[in-house]
Amino acid sequence: MNYDAFFAEQLDQLRAEGNYRVFAELERDATDAPHATMHGADKARPVTVWCSNDYLGMGKSAFVRQAVADAALKDGAGAGGTRNISGTATQHVALEAELADLHGKEAALLFTSGYVSNWASLSTLGAHLPGCTILSDEMNHASMIEGIRHSRAGKVIWKHNDPEDLNRKLEALPKGGARLIAFESVYSMDGDIAPIAEILDVAEAHGAMTYLDEVHAVGLYGPQGGGIAEREGLAHRVSLIEGTLGKAFGVMGGYIAGSAVMCDFVRSFASGFIFTTALPPALAAGALTSIRHLRRSDLERRRQQANVAKLRARLDAMRLPHLDNPSHIVPVMVGDPFKAKFLSDTLLEQHGIYVQPINYPTVPKGTERLRITPSPLHTDEDTDRLVAALSDLWSQCALNRAVA
Ligand code: PMP
Repeated sequence: MNYDAFFAEQLDQLRAEGNYRVFAELERDATDAPHATMHGADKARPVTVWCSNDYLGMGKSAFVRQAVADAALKDGAGAGGTRNISGTATQHVALEAELADLHGKEAALLFTSGYVSNWASLSTLGAHLPGCTILSDEMNHASMIEGIRHSRAGKVIWKHNDPEDLNRKLEALPKGGARLIAFESVYSMDGDIAPIAEILDVAEAHGAMTYLDEVHAVGLYGPQGGGIAEREGLAHRVSLIEGTLGKAFGVMGGYIAGSAVMCDFVRSFASGFIFTTALPPALAAGALTSIRHLRRSDLERRRQQANVAKLRARLDAMRLPHLDNPSHIVPVMVGDPFKAKFLSDTLLEQHGIYVQPINYPTVPKGTERLRITPSPLHTDEDTDRLVAALSDLWSQCALNRAVA
């Protein structure tokens, strides 16, 4: 077999569908965010970044960068081992204690990313809980799906954000065996929010354990940035909260928080925790600084929410169609992969605006979009330029406007 010919053919097919990914190479200056320099094949151009998941700009903040730099200079660049073999640093221990406290849980456990935390935790819980069935929201993230698959537990998919369907599916299961309900709070592509209280009611009625991914909510919602469960006073009812340090906290890493024995169990059985080098202590120090700041300060959250509201109002004024959701994620709907790519390319080339198009398989075919994430760092002028450029392009491409 000609292996390379096979790979090339598969990639050509992606290109033909308009789904081949080309990475934008950014040269950043943290003091000038959300502005950056984008390097292309032939030239470099200044851009305004509108699609970062450093939602609150914490990765660019002077004190988070300083914490990372200080710890790196003092401790070294890497952890030097797995958690079990010389890799546990004081920063990891302090960060786990902080995360447990943030979520009002007994314990927390760090992973090298949110992806790994979902994959490792779900695969471990599903594999070991006796007769386990995992009930998974149909829109769950790939990292959860992969973890569930790998667990080889029974899998039941319930309708997105639909506690009644979840209830029906639980009732239809044969009696006996563990039940684990896996869902997210803020869904990353539509920006909608789960009815957590109703889902917990159903879970409790069936004696099921609950697994809540708050990756797109931690740092952003709740009085201390503990996520939607904190905001709604529900964290104590969720068995396990999973989060990332790579989005609103601006650094990198993932974690779970829950009971001490559950965290100890995952720590002791999850290969994705055990057999990998620990997070660099310097990143743990940066994340700790970021979390502590966001527990005390509401400023970043308020500025971000104001910028989200401003963008939505301006899109409405120009009748540019966007999903009307209750979160900080603003999906501007295009509905065609080639047009989404054309819009993104033209925003970049003509306006110096960087928004990555989101195409299948990240979102269903026909719902291709520009996913825009305003941060506290965007200015009114940035927003005005973005909306004017979008409106121009909407006319150029003869795309439908929203009904007034
Ligand atoms: N869960 C969800 C819902 C996500 O959207 C993502 C990543 N975008 C992850 C988990 C993985 O988090 P991380 O980027 O920290 O690996």
